[in-house]
Amino acid sequence: MAGLACANYLHRAGRPVLVLEAADAVGGRVRTDVTPEGFRLDRGFQVLLTRYPEVERLIDYGALHLKAFRSGAVIRLPDGKETTLQNPLQQPVAAFSALTSRIGSLPDKLRIVSMVQHVRRFTSQQLLSRNSTNEQDTLSFLRQYGWSEQMIQNFFRPFFGGVFLDRSLSTAANFFEFVFKQFVEGEAVVPALGMQQIPEQLAARLPAGTIRLNTPVAALEGTSVRLRNGETLHAAAVVLAVDGEAAARLLPAANTAPTLAWRRTTCTYFAAPAAKGRPDKLLRLNASPTALAHNVAFPSDVASAYAPAGQRLVSVSTHGEHGLSEADLTARLRQELTDWFGPEAAQWQHLRTYELPYALPEYPAGQPARQSLKVQGHLYRCGDYAAYPSLNAALASGREVAEMLLAS
Ligand SMILES: Cc1cc2nc3c(=O)[nH]c(=O)nc-3n(C[C@H](O)[C@H](O)[C@H](O)COP(=O)(O)OP(=O)(O)OC[C@H]3O[C@@H](n4cnc5c(N)ncnc54)[C@H](O)[C@@H]3O)c2cc1C
Repeated sequence: MAGLACANYLHRAGRPVLVLEAADAVGGRVRTDVTPEGFRLDRGFQVLLTRYPEVERLIDYGALHLKAFRSGAVIRLPDGKETTLQNPLQQPVAAFSALTSRIGSLPDKLRIVSMVQHVRRFTSQQLLSRNSTNEQDTLSFLRQYGWSEQMIQNFFRPFFGGVFLDRSLSTAANFFEFVFKQFVEGEAVVPALGMQQIPEQLAARLPAGTIRLNTPVAALEGTSVRLRNGETLHAAAVVLAVDGEAAARLLPAANTAPTLAWRRTTCTYFAAPAAKGRPDKLLRLNASPTALAHNVAFPSDVASAYAPAGQRLVSVSTHGEHGLSEADLTARLRQELTDWFGPEAAQWQHLRTYELPYALPEYPAGQPARQSLKVQGHLYRCGDYAAYPSLNAALASGREVAEMLLAS
């Protein structure tokens, strides 16, 4: 996404670009596989938040036929009971006052209202740039704000732990505020035909021949690029738009990110018979600290092309290290899903498991929301690892590098 954004802005300004992509399609971490039966499997459950400033700036929403999840979630509490939050961040008074005290106390509900007002007062960029919250992790920020442990366990850990892929909530709190604002002001959507439609849209705007797929770069020497096939290319400028892991291999040591730790997640897909009745289009979150099924979504309830006719796609995310083989994880998930959704879940057909050890770069307290993008001479870098773990960051860093090149 970072490289395609950069190439798009340069092309718009009339500069010639060449994009070298190691994989067999564009998208990087935003890919969708179509199975022979006709399921569309995003490589890890992922959504687009419609108010991301960089996405609004670059992406044509109409052409993607976006399909929205309903704002809110069904939360399974540790005792197995469920509670539904509708519009918790958009209409907090209504959402939380309708609940029993099981999610949080009355003061917690008032705090949600004040947090909503707080994030509305700032732009997204101002929230990301706040030093005071950048220096704190999300958990200590929430505790300092005064929220009860019950509210943290039953709402913040499952909800934001799913966004950060980090239920410990050790992610820096300025990113929490930024994401909170996105949920307050926008929607969580997927393109009708899967998340890969987003990078495909950017790729389609570039002239034919601009993108070379299956072309891994082996080494950089100044502004010369050596490909794995032995070919060497020379350019006026080079933008390294790879993930943090590949950047560490290709860049001079002094220019790698300060931390190269990752958040991992596992996405297990099942096929179920189509649901009867109208779907609620809500995410399912599990507040149990011992569960492996951390969140469950039914993407085909939201975007019907995610499953063939008569079927329903079930996406189950397990964040962090689970230490199980695929077969053992699937069996454990099936047991949990049966307890959660009833005996019919025992019959759901396992489709595929995606292990994503490099899903998101860690973004701990104290890490700046924007690292230097100029490496040396005419060599630049972009990507989420140089900022914070989000599509918005990938696109922003790509745009900023394009602007630097256009100004030089
Ligand atoms: C499961 C999951 C869920 C997520 N959920 C969300 C979400 O809900 N909202 C959100 O905003 N973000 C989410 N993200 C994060 C988001 O997808 C990333 O922040 C973003 O896609 C990163 O883009 P990037 O361009 O920085 O890096 P990447 O997507 O990693 O792209 C790097 C590219 O470089 C290529 N490459 C690597 N090495 C070489 C080489 N040697 N030669 C040539 N090419 C090379 C790769 O093939 C890839 O195409 C999620 C990510 C995952 C995996």
